[in-house]
Amino acid sequence: MSARCLFNYALFFICIPFLTIPTVFASEVHTSRILSHDIEIELYPKEHKLNAKDRIQVQCAGSEKISFFINDSFDVLSVGTPDKKLDFNAKNRISWDVNSDRSKSFGDVQYVEVILPPDLMQLTTIALDVVYEGLILSKPSSIKEEDVGETVGTVDERGVYLSPACFWYPDVPDSLSTFKAKVITPNGYEAVTQGKLVNKDIVKDKLYTTWEEKNVSEGCHLIAGKYMVKDIKVNGINIYTYFFPEEQGLSEIYLGAARRYLEMYQRLLGEYPYDKFAVVENFFQTGYGMPSFTLLGNYVIKLPFIVETSLGHEILHNWWGNSVFVDEREGNWCEGLTTYMADYYYKELSDKTSAQDYRRDICRKYTNYVTEKNDFPLNSFVGRRDQVTQSVGYGKTAMVFHMLRKIVGDDLFFKSLRKFYKEKIWQSAGWTDIKNVFESECNMNLSWFFGQWINRTGAPFIDFGGVNMRQVDDGWLTELEIIQTYPKVQREIDSPYRFHLPIILELQNECDYKIVEVNESSNVVSFKSKSKPASITLDPEYDVFRRLHIEEVPPSIDSVLGDSKGIIVYPTECESSSASAYKEFAEFLADGKKIIKADKEVTETDIAEKSLFVLGGVLENKLTKKFIKILPENLIIRENEFTINEVKYSKKSNMLLVIFRNPENKLKNIALFLSLGTDSIIDTGYKIKHYGKYSYLVFDGSKNIDKGVFKVVYNPLKRYFSE
Ligand SMILES: [Zn+2]
Repeated sequence: MSARCLFNYALFFICIPFLTIPTVFASEVHTSRILSHDIEIELYPKEHKLNAKDRIQVQCAGSEKISFFINDSFDVLSVGTPDKKLDFNAKNRISWDVNSDRSKSFGDVQYVEVILPPDLMQLTTIALDVVYEGLILSKPSSIKEEDVGETVGTVDERGVYLSPACFWYPDVPDSLSTFKAKVITPNGYEAVTQGKLVNKDIVKDKLYTTWEEKNVSEGCHLIAGKYMVKDIKVNGINIYTYFFPEEQGLSEIYLGAARRYLEMYQRLLGEYPYDKFAVVENFFQTGYGMPSFTLLGNYVIKLPFIVETSLGHEILHNWWGNSVFVDEREGNWCEGLTTYMADYYYKELSDKTSAQDYRRDICRKYTNYVTEKNDFPLNSFVGRRDQVTQSVGYGKTAMVFHMLRKIVGDDLFFKSLRKFYKEKIWQSAGWTDIKNVFESECNMNLSWFFGQWINRTGAPFIDFGGVNMRQVDDGWLTELEIIQTYPKVQREIDSPYRFHLPIILELQNECDYKIVEVNESSNVVSFKSKSKPASITLDPEYDVFRRLHIEEVPPSIDSVLGDSKGIIVYPTECESSSASAYKEFAEFLADGKKIIKADKEVTETDIAEKSLFVLGGVLENKLTKKFIKILPENLIIRENEFTINEVKYSKKSNMLLVIFRNPENKLKNIALFLSLGTDSIIDTGYKIKHYGKYSYLVFDGSKNIDKGVFKVVYNPLKRYFSE
């Protein structure tokens, strides 16, 4: 995995699919790992063409053949040592089905086998020159604003994007290799890839750019475009922007932000592992992070949260993921740790409430999307595919690091991470390595902690048992029972979770903050206080990863979409254009998994038992008409208008989505989506999944103009003591 998705809660969700070797060749290919690449490549953007020579150092150790993959559309012209051509054959072209439902957008590869003469077989490593040329025409799926433009590779006048997934150089998946690339482009183009810029020369009408990274990585992306380059140097690190002329105004902001992030993480974790960091603009919409650079679409680059959050997240990946690699056999720890030390950490640096909200949000998403059926342990997390994998792989992992930090304290937490980085740089590392380093640095046995959170699915759910407060001789005694319920996936071995539970006792003039260890289904604890307690609250700041009570979670889009048994209800009393738009929207929301019903088909039992996503206005959908009587305060829906937060909306282009509790079933929520016109139903509809945490959204066309989360008024984990 050499590129990582950048957007965590953004409008886009981008993941570079994983490369797996077709099993038929897996064993053969594994024998010949590539240790280094020295590539000379000329790009012809107008003709979509490239030609290249890659000198690879290959491990061979006694085998008769060595083999590699390369893009299917290339002609391999020759393979040989620097002084001798060798026989080779390109085997049947394999359909490279990286991800079956998107197979069409991925290139195919060919499998090349090189026959070694006996004298070469003796060597442990061989230098081979592979000369090839070909066309790369896989255009991005879209270059429109807000669309994710997926492709594995394109050579085009607008720009060049070559990812390891298109096999633009001979590759053996699972190799950790060094890369040197001399890139020849027409004048006017700039080429950038990982590592250090070692040379740049113009000869006649061509630009020769050489980049080199002496440390290993999992793959290499090559980007070229008509960029203007700006740079600053900070403590020996070159920071660049490769932006199109239109975005030059943003360069300074990005250079400054990159500098701040680099300084911060060097302080927290140790030296930045590369000579440069570059922010590179792309002509289609991406948000990728590669070793020593990031690639951002020309629309993406203008979004404010990119500089505030995602840029820092990507920079941090140069420690976690790009230089300490993930040992996939133990699960992917790096996304969660990066999320914790970037996205989450920025909230903490900002203020306490934002950090607390972020932690609650992680638990909320997990509660909404993850069930006993679709849950999985962190040791089998590979990458994000959907809300479930995101909630567990990113969210739960981040909370596991948070709980670990609470146990060992800030100093030892960061000290252990620094040591982990120092010991594991340029190697694969897994959860076991993390556990070992924390245990030795903190001098603690943490087997129970890692065993429970990494190898086991699920989360505890906590509640009050009996609570009792009484006056005693020298003050007041509060006794309470904490009830823990937990999933019993493996019934015979799953035991109650062990965790540190913060508790706040609110006294007359102060608050008493306690931490108790919970490790049974029922734990009884007692506290003595000098003054009479007014209230007691369990986990007041959301420091424990747990399944939340429904009352702790504001009604949100996620809460309805995350319920796989929910029903999508389309209207039957509307004009045909709206009817077809609502129907298409319903199909999109159902995603082949949820039930879709016409308003007439919905029964009273459905209303009482299910989450409902109701589409259509008062005159269009029978259920909307029914539900407008039970709307939250501050919201009025009428035939051709609606009012929320005291603002009235009556334009045909206005749309509203609101989520509220089902008065007949407090465990289920109802979503109402209505449009005062027809035009943007589909465009807007496709966007709403990205606003999962909100309770209401207002749109004008497909532009969001108001959004918010309803306040939670009742906390089931807080008990008041009466006077
Ligand atoms: Zn990431």
